[in-house]
Amino acid sequence: MEEIVYKVGNSLYINATNKCTNNCVFCVRTYKNDIYGDLWLDREPTVDEVLFELKKFDLNKFKEVVFCGFGEPTYRLDVIEKISEYVHSKGKPTRINTNGHGSKINGRDISQIMVDNIDTIGISLNEVTPEAYQEICKSVYKEDGFTIMIDFAKACVKKGGHVVFSVVDSIGPEKIARAKEIAKEVGADLRIRELIKEDGSNR
Ligand code: SF4
Repeated sequence: MEEIVYKVGNSLYINATNKCTNNCVFCVRTYKNDIYGDLWLDREPTVDEVLFELKKFDLNKFKEVVFCGFGEPTYRLDVIEKISEYVHSKGKPTRINTNGHGSKINGRDISQIMVDNIDTIGISLNEVTPEAYQEICKSVYKEDGFTIMIDFAKACVKKGGHVVFSVVDSIGPEKIARAKEIAKEVGADLRIRELIKEDGSNR
């Protein structure tokens, strides 16, 4: 059976959708091998199915629960809200790895839902201009994908959310310096990560 809840280090990851508004050239979805095969879902699980799978784990043994997987997790606000409620009731924090398109995807501003449910909002900055972003993220929103993401980050920060942008180290020192400026302008932190991790947490 495909994996709805999976372990990465001492974190538990929730994989509730395979839909995404991007088609990033570095996405693990583009790597066809046995490591990631089980994250392809036959269908999206219901909230109760996700909760059932999560309850198989002892949360005391993990540091956090992360919404991430083979898709953009904000397609599943129902899962995010219900699972976050459960995770917080167990005294554990939540994190999301998102492309920042959630408000556009849902047709409304979801930043308050993010801030209310997610302790660390990880947003893939990836690049430092709309054109460069589109070149590697191949968004259905074209160059607007970058602006949509930045605006989402700003909205989350404005509501008191802890936002962490991420870029890969391979973009080089000049772009990393610009990424730091963007993060500062937005009020977010910046995480510089390796290009690909062999654990599915590629953003
Ligand atoms: S890396 Fe994330 S945003 Fe990019 S295509 Fe994969 S799931 Fe979507």
